[in-house]
Amino acid sequence: MAQHFLLSRAAKTLTLAQVFQMKDADAEMAFRRIRWADTNGDPVCPHCGSLDAYDCRRFKGAPRFRCRGCKKDFTITSGTLFASHKLPLRCYLAAIAIFCNEVKGKSALAISRDLCVSYKCAFVLLHKLREAMAEELRGRVVGGEGKEAEVDGGYFGGYVKPANLKEDRIDRRFARNQNGKRKVVVVIRERGGNSVPAVFHSESQASAFIRARIAKGTVVHADEAGSWDNLHERFEVKRINHQEAYSLDGACTNWAEEYFSRLRRAEVGIHHHIAGAYLLRYAQESSWREDNRRVSNGEQANRIAALAMKRGKSVDFTGYWQRHNIGRTGV
Ligand SMILES: [Zn+2]
Repeated sequence: MAQHFLLSRAAKTLTLAQVFQMKDADAEMAFRRIRWADTNGDPVCPHCGSLDAYDCRRFKGAPRFRCRGCKKDFTITSGTLFASHKLPLRCYLAAIAIFCNEVKGKSALAISRDLCVSYKCAFVLLHKLREAMAEELRGRVVGGEGKEAEVDGGYFGGYVKPANLKEDRIDRRFARNQNGKRKVVVVIRERGGNSVPAVFHSESQASAFIRARIAKGTVVHADEAGSWDNLHERFEVKRINHQEAYSLDGACTNWAEEYFSRLRRAEVGIHHHIAGAYLLRYAQESSWREDNRRVSNGEQANRIAALAMKRGKSVDFTGYWQRHNIGRTGV
């Protein structure tokens, strides 16, 4: 049997030891090369695009540049996901390396212990990395003529704990006995290709999303649930009844199930609770991890860092500290 990718040498191109051996100047240069790849790390003014900038950092201060064109100051992370960062850049590289190495995900509490930062700092940092990953999924359309894609849904959140005594227990299958917090992650996954998830209140709301994200001419595979019936109007659909078989006559949703296996393990084993406002971000993280599972950890770290530097300020977390009125001590 072929060796599993994660056991191979090719999977390990970045170690934490390498990151911690870096001097601050090395980490700065690494980020500069990622941010300003076209000029091999030479600063480009984010305000006016001028290439003429000089180093104006204060004594022992963080790296800072001043543009000769517009006279404005900027840093390596100005206007990126890491704007106004408080930690040394080396810590961000370390966080990205740790985050990549955990194939099912990394809990914010664990990374707060790894890097000795507050839980909230770790929580925001990891969510920014998820936001960066999601950048790659934006507007993605999968499939095409002669290609096959699978569609499936998985429910998350809204757990209702059964009562202690049998006579007090309610039937949790009825909508009236649920708390309305349960949501469904619907994933579209091309066989041998990429995936794209979205979150809805029920599978039947996903039709427009599926129509927009699967190219015409794709053969779509789905299970026997009635919510997928209207896909027949637009696509050639192969259905698999899971009560009879998991794969029959070429029809199966095993690629989609693999995705849910990863997301479910992230929920049960790492985060314990991934419902609510951030469910989509966790779903996107698992999608990115699933699609890039055969990419070396060094390449993954570079990609995530590059996505974070390419993306503007955080949508989810700009002003988070002000909104939550949290002191910045230890951040
Ligand atoms: Zn400028």
